[in-house]
Amino acid sequence: MALIVQKFGGTSVGSIERIQAVADRVIASRAAGHEVVVVVSAMSGETDRLLRLAKEIDPHPHPRELDALLSTGEQVTIALLAMALQHKGQSAVSLTGAQVPIETDTAHNKARIERIDGTRLRSALAAGQVVIVAGFQGVTASGDITTLGRGGSDTTAVALAAALQADECAIYTDVDGIYTTDPRIESRARRLDRITYEEMLEMASLGAKVLQTRSVEFAMNYRVPVRVLSSFTDGPGTLVTSEENNMEAPRVSGIAFSRNEAKITVVAVPDRPGIAHAILGPVSAANINVDVILQNVSEDGKTDFTFTVERNDFDRALQILRGVAAELGAADVRGDTGIVKVSVVGVGMRSHAGIAASMFETLAKENINIQMISTSEIKISVVIAEKYLELAVRALHAAFGLDEVGS
Ligand code: ADP
Ligand code: ASP
Ligand code: MG
Repeated sequence: MALIVQKFGGTSVGSIERIQAVADRVIASRAAGHEVVVVVSAMSGETDRLLRLAKEIDPHPHPRELDALLSTGEQVTIALLAMALQHKGQSAVSLTGAQVPIETDTAHNKARIERIDGTRLRSALAAGQVVIVAGFQGVTASGDITTLGRGGSDTTAVALAAALQADECAIYTDVDGIYTTDPRIESRARRLDRITYEEMLEMASLGAKVLQTRSVEFAMNYRVPVRVLSSFTDGPGTLVTSEENNMEAPRVSGIAFSRNEAKITVVAVPDRPGIAHAILGPVSAANINVDVILQNVSEDGKTDFTFTVERNDFDRALQILRGVAAELGAADVRGDTGIVKVSVVGVGMRSHAGIAASMFETLAKENINIQMISTSEIKISVVIAEKYLELAVRALHAAFGLDEVGS
């Protein structure tokens, strides 16, 4: 008998019909002799709807109250799924994050899981029940509801699988696995049979939202085997694992992209020691993440300093920089929200030279101007104008031999 954690995303519980289908799938796993813990998201669109309601009142709602609101989406689906299972004759119990309890830190809206007490889960399983846990939410030591950031139900599922030492963590979604790039952008994308934790971590953090980045961190740290599957069709899906298939390691395994980017340039600042700190210090003090950074060679002792931030932090970052620039005697501060980041990822890069050159050549052929570049051991990212996103992804997908054969 195996212990399986199954997670169903928003589309997979998007209607009563879909919830019934999930119940059937869970019952089939029980019939195969497995113990099952189910994690569900809110019905598709619900978290966005709640967010819009909050923002109608206040564009920056109080984080604690926002969590109290957003966590309700998952409370609906756990109860409905429990009812569906019970109605079909399967004993089941729904649990909110606080009822498990899944204890987190106090960083509302992006809380981190610190501890999971498996006692209640284990006794419910031992009593033959299917346990249904609300994804995306937890509780602080002092009893406040928290949420784990968008896509956080993935992390709930993997963290539960780690805490319970489950045999498998299955992530059911609306695509039948992890692809070489988002199949919604490139129809020739290919499903991967397996991908390493490392590569998936890069893909997720560079924008592939099929798994939340933190869920991959958890899976990697606790060696949880994760399989991404379709809840609509049967198939093998994609296994995320530590095993590298060295013999076949392609140069590039996937292309990721992110639209959640904005660029800020401080024009003509004096080029002297401490300038990067003077510019970026106040930005990081405001808890804004800086990503790609570029400092040009100086002319007449002046230089341009450019960096990217998440698009939702852009207004705040620009405001901070305007103040800083005046103090530093910079000529101007310019912002651009019409940019995106496109990245090629692959552990095979370690043993293959020339990936960057091929990437730049491919973009040059399409007349796409590269504004910024950043690299690490297993990825190369470029910042380009947003209007070239699809073109760049498709051109790179073809250039690195990722297109589905025969298409
Ligand atoms: P869920 O609601 O089930 O959590 P998400 O919308 O969060 O589903 O994630 C699934 C989506 O991720 C897919 O519909 C797909 O558009 C997108 N996606 C982005 N990159 C990839 C990729 N490399 N492989 C598969 N799906 C991807
Ligand atoms: N419902 C949350 C969201 O839409 C969490 C999740 O679906 O993973 O982000
Ligand atoms: Mg998701």
